[in-house]
Amino acid sequence: DKLFSGFSKTRESLSVVDELLLYWNLADTDRVLDELEEALLVSDFGPKISFKIVDSLREDILAGKLKSGSEIKEALKTSVLQLLTSKGSKTELQLGFRKPAVIMIVGVNGGGKTTSLGKLAHRLKNEGVKVLLAAGDTYRAAASEQLEVWAERTQSEIVVADDDKVKAPSVLSKAVKKGKQQGYDVILCDTSGRLHTNYSLMEELVACKKAVAKVIPGAPNVVGVTGLVLTKLDGSARGGCVVSVVEELGIPVKFVGVGEGVDDLQPFDAEAFVNAIFS
Ligand code: GDP
Repeated sequence: DKLFSGFSKTRESLSVVDELLLYWNLADTDRVLDELEEALLVSDFGPKISFKIVDSLREDILAGKLKSGSEIKEALKTSVLQLLTSKGSKTELQLGFRKPAVIMIVGVNGGGKTTSLGKLAHRLKNEGVKVLLAAGDTYRAAASEQLEVWAERTQSEIVVADDDKVKAPSVLSKAVKKGKQQGYDVILCDTSGRLHTNYSLMEELVACKKAVAKVIPGAPNVVGVTGLVLTKLDGSARGGCVVSVVEELGIPVKFVGVGEGVDDLQPFDAEAFVNAIFS
């Protein structure tokens, strides 16, 4: 399936683990674990996680709990799965009880926001959800047009700025009003790319949230990230970043992007992920 093929490069890169463990014997433990750690680092698990995983394997091997290469591999998979699920956060999209649910997509330029938003619209529409798009990236001229292409592709309604003086909070406000009046379930809001160090753009995010909260009383008006979409995992062997990101930020990965097509946004499933990278 798509999740499996999306992680093919990471799987390839981690296939060295199988080779290492196939010929593992107790006397060889240090060398094998060093190479295993190296393989995890190359796949972007990050130094902290890679060390933690290998260290707990070493402990179990020395305690006699793991007696064969295949037992070590199973323990490795279990330990990655535990890291991904220990925070216990739900990875499914939580649309909440308030309608319309408003989802703002935030990230750096070129990260895949607009594309992910389009794919998400496609996915939700297929589930029978009534979706409205809001073109809240008012800085980049081409951004609205790009979102309009996705609106057409997914046959979604879209709200865009009437002219270039209209700023993001107004676009979102207009979209949320429309969404409320016309019974939309979800409003997917594109935003301008930004880094957290760009103060005026971060201020704008807060203003966007406030604009939404004005229309939907009770909606939280502070900016908080509730879920992550990790994009472009199809093109890289660095799938281990999923684990380091979840561990570092404590925020669940909700979706992974595994290509540029409408169907290339996959719900993140920790178990399927572990099986896809260590097959
Ligand atoms: P934005 O600036 O954050 O809105 O980023 P875009 O949505 O415009 O995406 C930037 C580029 O990355 C586009 O060429 C997308 O087609 C591409 N892209 C986005 N997501 C993925 C993905 O999951 N896999 C691949 N291979 N390309 C992607």
